[in-house]
Amino acid sequence: MMNAVIRRANKLGDLAFNRMIKDTIDYGTSTIDYTLEYANRRTLGIKVYPDKTVQVIAPTDSAMPLIKEKILSKAAWIVKQQNFFLSFFPKTPPRKYVSGETHLYLGRQYRLKLHEAAKKNVKLYSGYIHVYTPSKTDKKQIKKQLQEWYAAKAEIHFKQLFEENIFRSKAFYSDTPTLQLRWLEKRWGSCTKKGQIILNIELIKAPKKCIEYVIVHELCHLAHFNHSQAFYQLLEKTYPDWKKTKDRLERLMV
Ligand SMILES: [Zn+2]
Repeated sequence: MMNAVIRRANKLGDLAFNRMIKDTIDYGTSTIDYTLEYANRRTLGIKVYPDKTVQVIAPTDSAMPLIKEKILSKAAWIVKQQNFFLSFFPKTPPRKYVSGETHLYLGRQYRLKLHEAAKKNVKLYSGYIHVYTPSKTDKKQIKKQLQEWYAAKAEIHFKQLFEENIFRSKAFYSDTPTLQLRWLEKRWGSCTKKGQIILNIELIKAPKKCIEYVIVHELCHLAHFNHSQAFYQLLEKTYPDWKKTKDRLERLMV
């Protein structure tokens, strides 16, 4: 029935008519969103793109239940492809804060598991970020709890990494720098002339090595308050791995 409508619309050449069907299929805890198009071909084709979108192209007269069955038989592969791309290209679409959705923490993907509970809590165990919350549909509240959890984790890990790397600045900075955490819009970190290093809490989603790189980068700004050649020379000397680590951070998070 749906095929007929699509074909008739195509014949009329009515471009305003959406020839692409958007649909969703549930697979375990994952939800696969896909677009479906029909083409003059014999087999069903599935493509997974780096932005996680899934395109299904089906033979013109295939019936919907059969198409769904075929997608489901490929679901494990689709999810695997999506996660593969994510580690390089997580220009994550706006989060929906539903069970099964992936969220990054220290460079790894974790799925959300929502639990209805009177007492609010967030816990990481057995590969899931468990969110205990009064209402599983209150996305605003879930987002808030997650952000608080990220901020608390950042407090622990950033502090530790900061302490571990502060010695590197001894060679070019005589005072003891201090650390502050904030949610920043566009930067991973910054530093003030008074020796205060500010780190973006968002960085808690990146691998520890990348967090360390941002800390050292900011420490080097204590000697050179710019991105001059002298700054990069100091960075190179202080943290020879910086380029590789910066690339990794940008691949993962930008
Ligand atoms: Zn900088």
